[in-house]
Amino acid sequence: MARLSLLIDVTKCTGCHNCFLACRDEYFGNDYGSYSAPQPLEGQFWMKVVEVERGSYPKPKLDYVPTPCLHCEDAPCIAVAADGAVYRRPDGIVIIDPQKAKGQKAIVNSCPYRMVYWNAELELPQKCTLCAHHLDKGEKTTRCVEACPTGALVFGDLDDPTSEIAQLTAALDVEVYHPEYNTAPLVKYVGLPTRFIVGEVVLRDDQGECAEGVAITLLQGSEAVMETETDSYGDFEFDGLEKDKAYDVRVELDGYCPMIIEVGTKKDVDLGPIILEPFC
Ligand code: SF4
Ligand code: SF4
Repeated sequence: MARLSLLIDVTKCTGCHNCFLACRDEYFGNDYGSYSAPQPLEGQFWMKVVEVERGSYPKPKLDYVPTPCLHCEDAPCIAVAADGAVYRRPDGIVIIDPQKAKGQKAIVNSCPYRMVYWNAELELPQKCTLCAHHLDKGEKTTRCVEACPTGALVFGDLDDPTSEIAQLTAALDVEVYHPEYNTAPLVKYVGLPTRFIVGEVVLRDDQGECAEGVAITLLQGSEAVMETETDSYGDFEFDGLEKDKAYDVRVELDGYCPMIIEVGTKKDVDLGPIILEPFC
């Protein structure tokens, strides 16, 4: 058995959209028979680069989450389709049959990831096929992976322990996008955007200079969960934090009174300037 999939590293994605364009180039106007009908010029994003804004001015963040069909093992699109119009191949790829799916708009609405698009002209639901038509001819990867300049996309067989995707999946902290959908997607992620805490340290007796090298510790209870130092601008950052958690941020520099600040991650947090007072 094989389970073909993508591993998507959000931390490597620059939002260049090459993956989307390669997909468009492959599928726009091209009929691949039982794999896929021609993609229309507008309105379909089989590889959609979703922009996720976090935080706020003056320290916002922008992440890019490339999102194809996630080829779910428990796929609502298969469940809702009549006449076997959506099916999972033995290699794990979920395919919409362009002949059987005609007129079945319910397939569009069944996908919680909104990765199925309606082709009004053909009256057909359409989505990413993981380039199955190429793989079946012996090609080794997908068009989006070929086009990605940063290595943010890795294609392969999760069940082949020698494959790069299987080894990365075993080694990295791999995540499911929207696990609350409960669809068991084969496509997995690294570095999905979560909460962050940022701040800036200023020394009361030296406010004209940036406070570089100040020790910052993130605590949960008495346990230090992350440590960093302020950079040459006096700034620091903790990213990849869980939502809705309570933390303490400890700020320490020799010769100054240490500070502890309580922080909750219901939202991203900018602590703003933190002024350290010198010991008297
Ligand atoms: S992401 Fe959506 S279209 Fe793709 S398999 Fe899952 S439910 Fe179906
Ligand atoms: S090609 Fe790679 S870096 Fe560019 S948007 Fe797609 S995944 Fe991100």
